[in-house]
Amino acid sequence: MASPGRAVVELSGLSRFYGEESDADIVRALDHVSLTIREGEFVAIMGPSGSGKSTMMNVVGCLDRPTAGSCRIMGRETRNMLPDELAALRRETFGFIFQRYNLIASVNAQANVEIPAIYAGIDKDIRDQRSEDLLGQLGMGDRKRHYPSQLSGGQQQRVAIARALMNDPPVILADEPTGALDSRTGDDVMELLHNLHGEGRTIIIITHNEDVALQAERVIHLHDGKIFKETIQSEAKLRDTGAKIKRDHGMNIATAIGEAVTMAIQSLRVNLFRTALTLLGIVIGVASVVAMLAIGDGARQSILGRITSMGTNLITVRPGMDIPGQRGGQDVTSLTLEDSDAIAKLSNVEAVVPQRSGRYTIRYGNQDYQTQVQGVGPDFPKARDWTVEKGSFFGAQDMRGYASVAVLGKTVLEAVFSEGENPIGKYVLIKNVPFEVIGVMKEQGGSAMGSDQDDVVMIPVTTGNMRLFGQNYISSLTVKVSNLAQINDTEQDIKDLLLERHGLEDFSTRNMASLVEMVTDTTNTLKLFLGAVAIISLLVGGIGVMNIMLVSVTERTREIGIRMATGARRRDILLQFNIESAVVCAIGGIIGVLLGWSVGWLIKGLGGMPIAFTAGPALMAFGSAFLTGIIFGYMPARKAARLDPVVALAWE
Ligand code: ADP
Ligand code: MG
Repeated sequence: MASPGRAVVELSGLSRFYGEESDADIVRALDHVSLTIREGEFVAIMGPSGSGKSTMMNVVGCLDRPTAGSCRIMGRETRNMLPDELAALRRETFGFIFQRYNLIASVNAQANVEIPAIYAGIDKDIRDQRSEDLLGQLGMGDRKRHYPSQLSGGQQQRVAIARALMNDPPVILADEPTGALDSRTGDDVMELLHNLHGEGRTIIIITHNEDVALQAERVIHLHDGKIFKETIQSEAKLRDTGAKIKRDHGMNIATAIGEAVTMAIQSLRVNLFRTALTLLGIVIGVASVVAMLAIGDGARQSILGRITSMGTNLITVRPGMDIPGQRGGQDVTSLTLEDSDAIAKLSNVEAVVPQRSGRYTIRYGNQDYQTQVQGVGPDFPKARDWTVEKGSFFGAQDMRGYASVAVLGKTVLEAVFSEGENPIGKYVLIKNVPFEVIGVMKEQGGSAMGSDQDDVVMIPVTTGNMRLFGQNYISSLTVKVSNLAQINDTEQDIKDLLLERHGLEDFSTRNMASLVEMVTDTTNTLKLFLGAVAIISLLVGGIGVMNIMLVSVTERTREIGIRMATGARRRDILLQFNIESAVVCAIGGIIGVLLGWSVGWLIKGLGGMPIAFTAGPALMAFGSAFLTGIIFGYMPARKAARLDPVVALAWE
């Protein structure tokens, strides 16, 4: 149990030297000091400038470690404690008040007051309530939303006092708390310290001011790192303050991350312009990836869409060898209707469509219309999965009989017939040859590459060859297989058959399934390339983030010192800075995705390019940006976390 006068601070033979023992110019800032401060005391440590007062405060406050001797705080030896153990002891024991207030400029008064409680893992509502109460008690109730730069020195010191009290520490350590204030506000601050003493807190005040020191119960006089005199001004009323050390376990990781995100956004807001510049690299990287993938995916989808709209279970046979530079198609005369019939007898062949086409003017009444006239076989609808909407398609009979019949595409129908008119049974003139309309195809819609698939008239290829094209040969054969799995075998069978029939390879075959494969392979290669570009641009962005975070750590060294003095562990600092870079990159990622999509929209709108907006690339790009923030933010964050609290606090 706590007994009255329990020792709060016990220094014995304590030394703190700067420099090596062997150096001639070693500074003995504290030289074999022994001192005990008990609970409830009001002690002043006094001495001229350079006498070692701040050094003592740093060692007592667990911000610094002694070179030799022992420093026991609340009965615990601090010499061999780890940085985070010191941070915990510091957080549980001390409230610090500094000469220069040491408020964090980027957050308002209330948020400054709450910092120690954040690191002690206290809930937000409790924190808000307590910080408000404290500011109210210190007469700062109407200033809690003000930023440090909007407050006078005396007001800032009140905020600092409220912060020191936030975790209800048993000991207040004040280093020249009135040093920067005029005498009246200085007196106010001293009165506050007296009140705190009256409440039972141990007060240790460091000063070079005699008037201030005279207000303490006991004055320790320091000179050249040694205690040379101790005066008792008034009997210390030692008492059991009932103060218990609250063992906090700090924050759990989820709360810590939540707090770090809040802090990150606060400090990013302060330097908006720099934040924007940091974002830029990431934004450009992410946006370009998203836009490029949208365009690439769009192109692939449109090509694949075109292929699959024709059917993937198709093999096309064309006359002429598939040699680059050699023209196949219309002019090469090798494929015949007999070939078509022979192929139809092969196994796994469901339908064969011989084809030849030409552009002609179709006339109905006084309507002229130029269109594609396709001579095809009767199996065309079956092979290509087109359906007849009205009337019927021609059959084998019409083929054999060179029937002058035509089936119209929707576009042609609308171009030459007036609305509502029934075209079935009407005659149209193609190249002055009358054809009877026997059917209308169901609308297919435009193909992905912009050509209108319904702008077509279909007639038996036999009739076409004889009456329009003046040819005995066909320009292509489309073969539909029943079993897609055997498409390659069937393709080989067709080749063998035609080779046998022709005696030489004067034709080429192509199978749609392998075409799909080829397109997919090509676009996968493209994706890989885009991925490499993405990685490089994010790398560049990441290096930018790292650079700016390093600058930020240097700039905010003092803030880091303040956070450490108010109880932040290394982990808290690491998390804060790393999350800051992650937040920057996440914001950059979001902006980048939106920008990339906008660019895609723009290209789609201006050039009519097919663009595919899918969640996958956006998520991937965003994820990579986020990861970049974590990876490239780690080094600066680690640098921040490893700062020595004393060095950081003294940073100018
Ligand atoms: P005070 O606060 O009483 O003015 P300090 O404790 O700051 O004195 O300094 C005590 C002595 O230690 C001074 O001579 C000072 O120059 C020296 N000193 C303080 N900090 C350092 C340091 N980081 N490196 C070297 N010497 C230091
Ligand atoms: Mg000092």
